This record gives sequence, C-alpha cells and structure tokens, in this order.
Amino acid sequence: MTNTEIINRIQQLKKEKNAVILAHYYTRPEVQDIADYLGDSLGLSQEAGKTDADIIVFCGVHFMAETAAIISPHKKVLIPAPSAGCSLAESITGYDLREWKKNNPAGIVVSYVNTTADVKAWTDICCTSANALKVVESLPKDRKLLFVPDKNLGAWICKVTGREMELWNGDCCVHARITTEMILEKSQQYPEADILIHPESLCSHDDRILNLPQAYLYSTAGMIKHALNSSKKQFIIATEIETIHKLQKDNPDKEFIPIDSRTICAQMKKVTLENVLEALEKEQYIVEVSEEIRQKAWIPIDNMLNIKLQ
Ligand code: SF4
Repeated sequence: MTNTEIINRIQQLKKEKNAVILAHYYTRPEVQDIADYLGDSLGLSQEAGKTDADIIVFCGVHFMAETAAIISPHKKVLIPAPSAGCSLAESITGYDLREWKKNNPAGIVVSYVNTTADVKAWTDICCTSANALKVVESLPKDRKLLFVPDKNLGAWICKVTGREMELWNGDCCVHARITTEMILEKSQQYPEADILIHPESLCSHDDRILNLPQAYLYSTAGMIKHALNSSKKQFIIATEIETIHKLQKDNPDKEFIPIDSRTICAQMKKVTLENVLEALEKEQYIVEVSEEIRQKAWIPIDNMLNIKLQ
C-alpha cells in the first residue's frame, strides 16, 4: 500500500469506529500529519479526557497512553507500538517510591508526568515541564520533597525556585545529550537566534545557560508558543528533533536550527503509519490499567490540576 492509500484507509476507519488520533510532537512527521490533535504528554492526556470518541489511538510511548487511560477510563485507548518505552519512565518503579515513603513518612513525592501508572499510584502530586515551578512552589516549605524521575529537570527546578529537593537519578536519554558546550557553540554560530531549551536537558541547570540572555527554558508546547509570538527569525531548538516539523509548519518564514542531529527519540519513531492502520483495523493494542492502580494514580494528577497539598 502507498502512504496515500494507508492514510485514506485510516481516515475511513476513524469515521466508521468514531476514533480519534492523538500524536506527540516527537513522532514521525507523517504520523503528526494524520493526528486530530498534536501535543506534549499533558496536552494529549487532557485531550483524551475531553474527546467524545469511543476509541483513542495514542501515537506516543507507553506511559503517555497509560496516562490517557487513567484520565479516560471509559474509552478504549490503543497504542500502535506497544514496545515504545521511555528511559525516564523506566528508571523508577512503584516499589522504589514505597520504600522512600517508608523512610520518609512526612515527605512529599513529586513525580514528573513521565512516569508509569504504578509510580503515579505512589505519588503525592504530578507536574509537567510546563507547570513544575508552580507545583513545587505550592508545596509546604517544612516538608521534605523527593522529585522523580528526571534529575536534570529536578536540578533546574531547585535552581530556579531555591527549593531543596532529593532527586531521583533518572534522565531522558535524548535530552541528556544536550550539553552546555553544544549550546554555547551554536549560540556563537547564530548570534541572532533565540535558543529554546527543554529543562530535561543536561545543561538546564548550568549558570552559564541560565545567564545567557537569548536562552529560554521551555516545555515543548512552550517552545511552540514562543516561536509563534516572537519577532525573531532564527531559533536554535534544543529538544527532540521532530518538534521542528510542527515549528516549521506554523512558521514557514522562520528558521529552526536543531542543536544536534542526534537528538532523536528512537522509541517515538516506533509509531508508523502502518501500525496506526493496524491498530485501527484490529483494535490493538489496548492499554490496560487495573482499576485499583487507576484510582490511586488519578489522585496526584488531580492534585496537580488543582495544586492541592497546601
Ligand atoms: S524523549 Fe526522552 S522522555 Fe520523551 S519518550 Fe523519549 S526517552 Fe522518554
């Protein structure tokens, strides 16, 4: 089948089955182009909660589809590439958190949304890269905090808020490649460009980066907003490379320079047009979260949305 034939069949099945396709900014361009909604992990989960479709085809990695299933328990959530994992989400288990809580009964666990349902079930409050500073600032000053699982995002939050936290030793294998030296070198090469940096990056908490006037730390969705609203014509993009597909589509007259051609998430690339079609045809692979875990995992997400625990 040609790509056009696959896309036509996907559109037809979507209508017949009342399905919606949600895709992450890091998926392949051709997958992004067939999505009904394109977003980052939180945006996609929120969309999953709003849609009145019966089937959600979630084009992303496993923990993201799980989050959608936690938020939308009455919908059938399908993941076209069930083996698509994440180095960050896999760096910690629910057992690890249970052990920490045993030793720190008054402590608060803050989990980045890039975690499994099992980890969320033992978390007090979730955060995303977009709301992390607000979430941490909302927490009582006299309580010990454990931030999981991204040590780079955690160190950036500590630096900006001045709040001390114990950090889990996990990282995103894609953003952990983005160093201060790469940023400084590219900024010399393109002195007029704004530099948009994801806070999961290795360099995010280095003073040399935080003091760079043209550097901005943003979630992927924040980068997209910045590029749209800026009068600048050149941007250095320090995140997963496929984000540039959306940036370029939104801003055809602007130039987007990847920080490095190797900032690629191989797991996200496991989602293809072929397996999206197969997912719709066979209604596979269904993302299952047990009701017990789902109910527990919903609490820290709800706490984040309401910034409770004050
Ligand atoms: S880019 Fe990093 S955090 Fe995102 S899915 Fe890939 S490995 Fe996980």
